[in-house]
Amino acid sequence: MAGYLSETDFVMVEEGFSTRDLLEELTLGASQATTDKVAAFFLADLGAVVRKHFYFLKCLPRVRPFYAVKCNSSPGVLKVLAELGLGFSCANKAEMELVQHIGVPTSKIIYANPCKQIAQIKYAAKHGVQLLSFDNEMELAKVVKSHPSAKMVLCIATDDSHSLSHLSFKFGASLKSCRHLLENAKRNHMEVVGVSFHIGSGCPDPQAYAQSIADARLVFEMGAELGHRMHILDLGGGFPGVEGAKVRFEEIASVINSALDLYFPEGCGIDILAKLGRYYVTSAFTLAVSIIAKKEVLLDQPGREEETGSAPKTIVYHLGEGVYGIFNSVLFDNTCPTPVLPKKPSPEQPLYSSSLWGPVVDGCDCVAEGLWLPSLHVGDWLVFENMGAYTVGMGSLLGGTQTCRITYAMSRVAWEALRGQLLPAEQDEDTEGMCKPLSCGWEITDTLCMGPVFTPASIM
Ligand code: PLP
Repeated sequence: MAGYLSETDFVMVEEGFSTRDLLEELTLGASQATTDKVAAFFLADLGAVVRKHFYFLKCLPRVRPFYAVKCNSSPGVLKVLAELGLGFSCANKAEMELVQHIGVPTSKIIYANPCKQIAQIKYAAKHGVQLLSFDNEMELAKVVKSHPSAKMVLCIATDDSHSLSHLSFKFGASLKSCRHLLENAKRNHMEVVGVSFHIGSGCPDPQAYAQSIADARLVFEMGAELGHRMHILDLGGGFPGVEGAKVRFEEIASVINSALDLYFPEGCGIDILAKLGRYYVTSAFTLAVSIIAKKEVLLDQPGREEETGSAPKTIVYHLGEGVYGIFNSVLFDNTCPTPVLPKKPSPEQPLYSSSLWGPVVDGCDCVAEGLWLPSLHVGDWLVFENMGAYTVGMGSLLGGTQTCRITYAMSRVAWEALRGQLLPAEQDEDTEGMCKPLSCGWEITDTLCMGPVFTPASIM
């Protein structure tokens, strides 16, 4: 163990106990607290992060993972990933400081933002962060002046037209401009040591990775012609963080492995990296949010009252977090967060058309609509799974909690696996089987039986 993470950093989940039990305890404790009431908190299963890491190494054995700090910079995540030996991809000075603060050496940090503030380039120079990315001449000129000994990674544009989030307009040099940039670097005595790309998040076509790897090969050839000794290929992020994603991680890994064999075969001397964010943390974080207000709205549907014997209504629940904070993926990624209910409703319990709203007084702060839920009360908790990516630190500035408490947990099996940096031997063959004992024993959730048009809620 390198000593980044210790047993005091998390709750050890012993055999026979699960994170579900822990969550129940936490929600009960939060409900009973007379002071310091919280409207939302996270439970983070660090064992899930450990498990993801081992699976990554198994599926992409030639790729060295770095972690994109912007995705979730909470201390437990950074520490467990540092303990697993990952490097860190930072977008700014604050992220570099965070990672340095937990003791990560600067040799493991990439300053991977192609457009940087001069003061922050100087910070990197002063603290010995050597690997910096760029995608244009101006940026190169800034680095030449403020960090002349930096080693540059040329960030190339990708075809991210089908991805959920597009970055290639903002970041990435076109293939056409690469020769010119490499010449410019040579003239200015800047070493270009590698090529990076990021296909964007939620890319539905794994071939985008193969195309970008092929493009990177061309840039490596241009660089070699111009006398750059390039030895780093950075595949960026965009790997899915949840099971059931449109494109499975295994599919992407298979496309990448074939493309690497073709364009960067084993023994070619190129260090292959990826900068993953959501892959590592999405499924590890569960969010509990309490209902802070409730309103019944009668629906104006002529004739329905006679049919059913009661006036049709919908229930509007207000939560302490909304789309301007933790649920920002509703705005940016078109997600539909679906709550898990702490108790399974009995078959006789009526379900009502329901919607969930954030704390901001505007009509856009809608977390979810079209749910069928039993009648819930102010103070009840709703639980949302897969909440680890781009959520922490995003607590609503507009009326929300700003920072949300995080309780870290890990099963003893995962802790032992982390300490030994290997999987328990009997689980090594079966990756699916491997996943369960390492995590804290979430059970598969049942799903409420819903009408055909509405999004179901699940049961814890
Ligand atoms: N690399 C770069 C350059 C990024 O901009 C991002 C996120 O925007 C990532 C990696 C991480 O992406 P993801 O969380 O989809 O893995």
